[in-house]
Formats: sequence, structure tokens, C-alpha cells
Amino acid sequence: MAGGRIPKHDFLVWVLARVRLHVPLECPLCSTNMESRQHLFFDCAFSSEVWSFFYSRLHLLPPSLLDDGIRWLKDPSRDSNIVFIVRLAFQACIYGIWRERNTRLHSQVSRPAAVVISEICLILRAKLDILSREQRNLPSTVTYLSNWSLHFV
Ligand SMILES: [Zn+2]
Repeated sequence: MAGGRIPKHDFLVWVLARVRLHVPLECPLCSTNMESRQHLFFDCAFSSEVWSFFYSRLHLLPPSLLDDGIRWLKDPSRDSNIVFIVRLAFQACIYGIWRERNTRLHSQVSRPAAVVISEICLILRAKLDILSREQRNLPSTVTYLSNWSLHFV
């Protein structure tokens, strides 16, 4: 896939390893549950809102358990453009959730999920725009960006 190699979830693994190091704390995103990797990234109401925004628009229903979700990412769709977008979105969501969690832990600032979602969309769109320029030899209907625009306006 031209120019769009996805790092092999190195970042994700790094984040998850860090979370594991922590003594269980109250989740800074919802303040109602104890923090665990499964809770923080998937079960938390905040994180669920982030995921469901992306997955509902892509008409995908990934498994809700962390390890199953990572396995599912290997083959999430028959459309290779969608596979690419999903993997990129997955990393961006993990990153966005992790960053929001840290911001709340270290400052009094807390942003609603909708703001984090908009930020993730901007990052993804910019990335897909750059990568789509390398797909210029293809008809415009099959670039990453045009696929993105089909689902996210
Ligand atoms: Zn939570």
C-alpha cells in the first residue's frame, strides 16, 4: 500500500504497557469505575462515545474486548481503503483517549468526548489527505480521502 505503512501497533503496545504499570485508580474519564486497560480504552462511557462515532459511520461492529479488538484489526473489512482507515482511526482513538486521560490526571482541564472526536477527525483527515496525494494515479473515487469523505463529512 503506497506510502501508508501502519506501524505494527508499536504505539498501542507502548501505551498499553504503561497503563499496566499503574496501580488501579479511579478512571479520570468517568470517575465512576476503576481504571484498567479494558475499562479506560473500551468500556468507559467516554471511550465508547469516541469508538461508536467512528465505527457507526464505517458500519463496523468490532468486538468489545481489547485482545479480540486487536485481532479483529488484522482483517476488519473487505475494502482495503476501509481497512487502512480503520487501522489509522484505531490508533488515533487510542492516542486521543490516552492523551485526554493524562490531561485530566495532570491538570483541571477536561474536554468532552465530542471535542476529542473532532480533533481525531482533523488529524485523520489531514493524514489521509497527504496519503491520497500519492494515490493520484487512481481515479479520485478510490482514494483514502474520498473514502473518508463518504463516511465523515
Ligand atoms: Zn471511565
